[in-house]
Amino acid sequence: MNQLVKIKEFLLDILFPPLCLNCSSSLQEKEKTSALCGRCREKITVHTTLFCSVCRARLPDNKKTCHKNSSYLLGAATNYDEVIKSIIHRFKYKFWTRLENPLSDLLLTYTKNLSPDGLLFKNYTVIPVPLHKNREQERGFNQSERLAKIIAIRYHLPMEIKALSREKETKPQAELKNWEERKTNLAKSFVVANPTAVKGKNIILIDDVYTSGATINEAVQSLRSAGARKIIALVLAKTK
Ligand SMILES: [Zn+2]
Ligand SMILES: [Zn+2]
Repeated sequence: MNQLVKIKEFLLDILFPPLCLNCSSSLQEKEKTSALCGRCREKITVHTTLFCSVCRARLPDNKKTCHKNSSYLLGAATNYDEVIKSIIHRFKYKFWTRLENPLSDLLLTYTKNLSPDGLLFKNYTVIPVPLHKNREQERGFNQSERLAKIIAIRYHLPMEIKALSREKETKPQAELKNWEERKTNLAKSFVVANPTAVKGKNIILIDDVYTSGATINEAVQSLRSAGARKIIALVLAKTK
């Protein structure tokens, strides 16, 4: 992390005592590392199963029970509702370092719910959904890469940051009105830059949110064409 950012945050903490990032109530000592007050944290329900990537049904025991030929399983730590929406937004656009802790807690609580012994993730390679290089430069970091790192470290998995690359500079999906526009916007936007990192591999594809699913679908398609085997798309939050 940038030293200046650290110093700035340290000074801000002294000048302005930490407040809950969601409701602005002042945080008690033990809450300070989480950046959220107890009440707001309780509002976040952490899921316990994977989901079908076609109909978003819960999949008990992490097995495909409905759309058996769907091309990937969807893992989402929580639903994309008000509290989590504002947290992720700040994480993404302001690089609020205090948010890395609560977000990684959320993600790891979820993966532990899915697989207490971690065996579900054995023999997987972690790949973050890339940003186009112009976007990454503008933002200063790729939020998916930070989340991917948390998973790779926790489960001792290889991470391939450059396996997938984003060649086309797409508009932010949030600016587009309908699904058709979103799909055209994203068509052929991903390229597998390192095929040997993908061919024959099981992949955990990481992104921050899953709304229309168009971004992940595109990325999965590219990975599949490059010969990927099982794919789990893992995100912090999904819309219902
Ligand atoms: Zn709060
Ligand atoms: Zn289904």
